[in-house]
Amino acid sequence: MTNPLLSDWNTPFNLPPFEAIEDAHVKPAVEAGLAEGRAAVQAIASDPEAPTFTNTIEALERSDSTLSKVLGVFYGSAGADANDVRDALMRDFSPMLSAYSSEITSNSALFARIETLWEARDTLDLTPEQARVLMLTYRSFVRSGAKLEGPQKARMAEIKSRLATLGTGFGQNLLADERDWVMPLAEADLEGLPQFVIDSARAAGEEKGADGPVVTLSRSLIVPFMQFSPRRDLREAAFKAWSARGENGNANDNRENAAEILRLREERARLLGYPSFAAYKLETEMAKTPEAVRDLLMRVWAPAKEAAERDGAILAEMMAKDGINGPLQPWDWRYYSAIRRKAEHDLDEAELKPYLQLDRMIEAAFACAHRLFGLDFEPLDVATYHPDARVWNVTRDGKHIAVFIGDYFARGSKRSGAWCTAMRSQQKLEGDIRPIVLNVCNFAKPSKDEAALLSYDDARTLFHEFGHALHQMLSNVTYGSISGTSVARDFVELPSQLFEHWLEVPEVLEEFATHAKTGAPMPRDMLDRLLAAQTYDQGFATVEYIASALVDLDFHDGDAPADPMAAQTETLARIGLPHAVTMRHATPHFAHIFSGDGYSAGYYSYMWSEVMDADAFEAFEEKGAFDTGTARLLEEHILSKGGSQDAEALYTAFRGRMPGVEALLKGRGLLTA
Ligand SMILES: [Zn+2]
Repeated sequence: MTNPLLSDWNTPFNLPPFEAIEDAHVKPAVEAGLAEGRAAVQAIASDPEAPTFTNTIEALERSDSTLSKVLGVFYGSAGADANDVRDALMRDFSPMLSAYSSEITSNSALFARIETLWEARDTLDLTPEQARVLMLTYRSFVRSGAKLEGPQKARMAEIKSRLATLGTGFGQNLLADERDWVMPLAEADLEGLPQFVIDSARAAGEEKGADGPVVTLSRSLIVPFMQFSPRRDLREAAFKAWSARGENGNANDNRENAAEILRLREERARLLGYPSFAAYKLETEMAKTPEAVRDLLMRVWAPAKEAAERDGAILAEMMAKDGINGPLQPWDWRYYSAIRRKAEHDLDEAELKPYLQLDRMIEAAFACAHRLFGLDFEPLDVATYHPDARVWNVTRDGKHIAVFIGDYFARGSKRSGAWCTAMRSQQKLEGDIRPIVLNVCNFAKPSKDEAALLSYDDARTLFHEFGHALHQMLSNVTYGSISGTSVARDFVELPSQLFEHWLEVPEVLEEFATHAKTGAPMPRDMLDRLLAAQTYDQGFATVEYIASALVDLDFHDGDAPADPMAAQTETLARIGLPHAVTMRHATPHFAHIFSGDGYSAGYYSYMWSEVMDADAFEAFEEKGAFDTGTARLLEEHILSKGGSQDAEALYTAFRGRMPGVEALLKGRGLLTA
């Protein structure tokens, strides 16, 4: 039996032969990829020839080509269409793959070759891209502990493995706490709630096997409940349960867990010679140092706090008029803010929705990409991993650029959220390899014959993920390891957050926001109200975000705190967090930084990217939102470059300078006159 994952794909655009691939093919294909990779790495390490860029670094780039081909297809589709078999495969693969990568980074013969090249780098006559790949390879080996020996090497392995276990445990505790809590609602408790909240409370009740509607700790239910329930006692109960996740003193309590994670991270950084975990983590980011991160966050903090205090005073006054005495509490903010938004901007979600059709918003994203970068999108009638996923051939001047897959509807087999991934990345080392790029979202699927409708937030998500997709599709580098979105964490949201701005260009909504039933364009005053509401309540949003980002930074900058909860209290007191606002994610449920390593000392990244996207969009606004000259610079210096140069060099090449924080403040409505 031939395994279609391992055979040559003689298909249009070399797409994976999805119809022939079965779950049973995956494990043998991964094992074959690992065996091939091990043999290739062994051959490099024991090569009798002296090391050269070609026989060591390029050979290493090629060593996992089968493995990444197989994993690209499997992880690309398994996250969007899981089942028990695929879940079990992912659990199996995680230790297999981490052992594989440890094996490579601790192979001392291999590292000796890389180090020889690194030391001779100025004499090797490398292209700038090759020099960059050599630097990144060397650096990642060193940061994984390749230079450690004896007991230090063993301790590093111990720490890594313990951190992996603690991170998984942190996430599982959180899920358990979220699953366990429900608040039953009597029929009278539903009064004042909009129909869509009542519907989801009833659906949640059914799912939990309750007699009637319930509130759960799912964000999509509890947040609208706190926005719309006039019952202050119920809002308080819901809010307190929401903010106590991971801190209930039960078996799921995450506080000890967080303390141990912070201790081990610090020890790991010190083993590698860094003064703190933040110094270790930030070395490879644009920010480089904890001071640079703190600087940005505190720049935005002051005006944001001022705005939040101003808004809080208005909301407190509204509450007093309701006859409620005492200070505004965290469970009051969203409720009075929603009333104020309706009064000031007269925006009604139900009235807005028919104008935001999924198909037309996809068209809008494609049209923007056409005007900016000359891309064309032609639907392809080919099978994928799921019938809901749609496929387009992306071309420019008739030349094939990429295959784009849009998988937009929520379903039980899809994990929550929205993301962009490449099933195959662009590279030129093994021929002109064109990418297969996937956008996955969780929009509500309409009943048959109805048009799919989006909220404005959904439409923004669609544009955001499409911005990541452009970063992959327009990539033009030689080496796969630096292709597309393989860039610093605090740079990667620039293309995605930047593309969101085109949804705010009035002529885009004027053309593409048409009514699902009548085809009429969105009325001008609705469009104006929608765009005017973009900066509404940004004081609150900014303050709750920065509070979390600063606590994250403090945790990792300097000695690990013995008691993270006390350290959190100290940070919040120091910055003077307004009483009615809380951290967006408090320590015991701060999964971004504790359930894995992704955003540790890195929660600031969204705002770092926002400084650039706000400034980059101003470059367009100066010459016109669809100025093709500016678009050409963006492609030439950023979208085509992947990680082939330092991010700061890329941005400076595009804009002529690094940005200040003013454009961000203006975008959030926080620039005081
Ligand atoms: Zn993103």
